[in-house]
Amino acid sequence: MSQLDCLWEYQQTELELAKLKKDMKSSAAYQKRGKLYKLLVEQQEIINGYETEIKEHTEQIASMESQLNSLLHDYDLENSELEIMQNDDESTAEELTEARKSIEKLVGRINGLNRELSKLIAWCDEISDSVTKTYAKASRAKRDYDAVRTVCDAEKDSFMPKIDALTKQLEQQEAKIPPELMNRYKSLKKNYLTPIAKVINGQCGGCYMMLSSVQEKKVAAGNQIIQCENCGRLLFM
Ligand SMILES: [Zn+2]
Repeated sequence: MSQLDCLWEYQQTELELAKLKKDMKSSAAYQKRGKLYKLLVEQQEIINGYETEIKEHTEQIASMESQLNSLLHDYDLENSELEIMQNDDESTAEELTEARKSIEKLVGRINGLNRELSKLIAWCDEISDSVTKTYAKASRAKRDYDAVRTVCDAEKDSFMPKIDALTKQLEQQEAKIPPELMNRYKSLKKNYLTPIAKVINGQCGGCYMMLSSVQEKKVAAGNQIIQCENCGRLLFM
């Protein structure tokens, strides 16, 4: 068997293997698994986004709560001071007004903080609702994914013996081909599904270009590697 015969057989095995893998990946279960996988990744990204936002808001709430506690503490303090001043004959009306104003200011700040806190807490409630819904959606998708994966695994099990056999066959066929020729084949493979083409009726079987009679004779002689002048495929007869 010539080098080109071996290479032709190698190409046939390669095509058969590619078709088998394509058949395996085109099953309904395989396609569904791909879609569900994508959906699961999307849900996970959404949940991660929510978690980051929740963390930021939780930190904000904690900081506001500590501000609020400190204001409430000041409020208590100033209130007791006012009480003492009210019972003290030496306190002037001006001093009492000042103290009351200061307390009013504090109350204003406390109310403002309370409003912001309420808004943040409402946001958290809303977002936790979204998280729950996303989790439910993801868990349904995960259940479907697991079910379809079982089907895919069973399908794969039925394909694998043949795929393994063809892979082994490819290795054995490659061993019979000189590395230099194999490299030319693999380099052409980047552009063509079939880097080696049969000459049929004087035409390149890859691009259907007519060969010159000289070229055709060279291919027929079979003692050198001839490439199609048009597409560059290795020619074989
Ligand atoms: Zn050609």
